[in-house]
Amino acid sequence: MTKYIPTIWLEVHMRIKSKTKMFCSCKNAVELASEPNMNVCPVCMWFPGMLPALNKEVVRLWLIWGMAMNCEVNKISRFDRKTYFYPDNPNAYQITQLYEPIVWIGSVKTIVDWEIREFWIHHMHLENDAWKLTHAWNTTLCDYNRAWSPLMEIVTDPVFHTKEEVMEFLKELQKIMRAAWVSDADMEKGQMRADVNISIAPEWAKEWGTRTETKNVNSFSAIWRVIDHEVKRQKKIIEKGWVIDQETRWWNDDTGTSVTQRSKEDAMDYRYFPEPDLLPVELDNEFIEEARKQIPELPIEKRIRYLNDFKLSDDDARLLTTQRDLSEYFDELVKLTNDAKKSCSYITTVLLALMKEDEEIKHLSDLKFDIKELAKVIELVNKDELSSTNSKQVIEELFNNWWETDIIVDENNLRQKNDLWALESIVDEVIANNVKQVEDYKAWNQNIFGYFVGQCMKASKWQWNPKIFNEILRKKLG
Ligand SMILES: [Zn+2]
Repeated sequence: MTKYIPTIWLEVHMRIKSKTKMFCSCKNAVELASEPNMNVCPVCMWFPGMLPALNKEVVRLWLIWGMAMNCEVNKISRFDRKTYFYPDNPNAYQITQLYEPIVWIGSVKTIVDWEIREFWIHHMHLENDAWKLTHAWNTTLCDYNRAWSPLMEIVTDPVFHTKEEVMEFLKELQKIMRAAWVSDADMEKGQMRADVNISIAPEWAKEWGTRTETKNVNSFSAIWRVIDHEVKRQKKIIEKGWVIDQETRWWNDDTGTSVTQRSKEDAMDYRYFPEPDLLPVELDNEFIEEARKQIPELPIEKRIRYLNDFKLSDDDARLLTTQRDLSEYFDELVKLTNDAKKSCSYITTVLLALMKEDEEIKHLSDLKFDIKELAKVIELVNKDELSSTNSKQVIEELFNNWWETDIIVDENNLRQKNDLWALESIVDEVIANNVKQVEDYKAWNQNIFGYFVGQCMKASKWQWNPKIFNEILRKKLG
């Protein structure tokens, strides 16, 4: 049977979190405002005679984003007008950059199947978002809240051949945007979505097959299913001897199928021309360097550092780099404790679980206790002064009552005593009081070892460390 290889490229749209919109001073509602037409003015409502004015913060974020994706920076760039008619766009054009963009060519490095891979970007730019249409009964309602908001478009080369590659790329892209504070890239909130272009061709073919584009897919799981579905659909068509239509398809996530939306227009139809209402953008070195300073250690570099230097598991390294505040919290904790493994496990298994359950504390910045207190918990566990079972109770107390670790440990009698001399005398006493059991143990019944540990714990009123009792008992009982 013929083996078909898929070739995929993506067009990703992301809403960037500048305070104000791209060309006016209205608030940029990254998460759409609850009421329609709250953040609007004559400029973003396209009143006649109004002129756009470029927002400096948007340019700064644009540069940071570009440089974080290894792009080249153009000191002089120009805007273009992209003409298109659609009911969500009252003036029938979008302002964007096609010919001389601020940043161009770039790549995203990520790990696929334990291998570092670099996926190339064909082009990327900002454009103004359109308005939102809501169709109701016999009417259509228009909301200008997001009109003129900055919308990022990233178009990749046809570099993907498996859905795993697509997923790793998108997840890395999301991480970069979050790490650079450019976008929260939250797919559930509509801040990130992708158009997925797919074609398939027999393994031996020298050319790609005809592609289709599935528009506005807005979750990772949907993208995964779109690829599966479209590859299967195209295979069926080819095997019947039919031809694939180049078209735009619409994905229905409920049914898990897609339908034809429209046949694809080519880029030429947009009739780009230089935007007459905006001057070229000239960047000075100082502005560029200022932006460069704000690029953080990239998530992939962090992940490799966690894997190599800290020997964390792949899952942990991936999880800790999903959000910049999470990895920064982890780095800070490791600095304080010098124990990467425990820092990781207390964050991922205890702290994040508490946050998941809690109604109010959803971000690390909401935590009310000092990170030094968590470091103290780890220190006590490492010194055997606190058992790991009890440490969870202490963290829960820190989380809910933001007290101090030492006070919580002492008030709840959780401190394990490790005074060797005192422990030895307890062990001696237990041995002396249980002559029969000791004889049994030595003669034939090794199973009653736990009984001695229990007796020692009881004699110490459960405050001392069973691990050390264990060691002394083994030594003394032989
Ligand atoms: Zn406005």
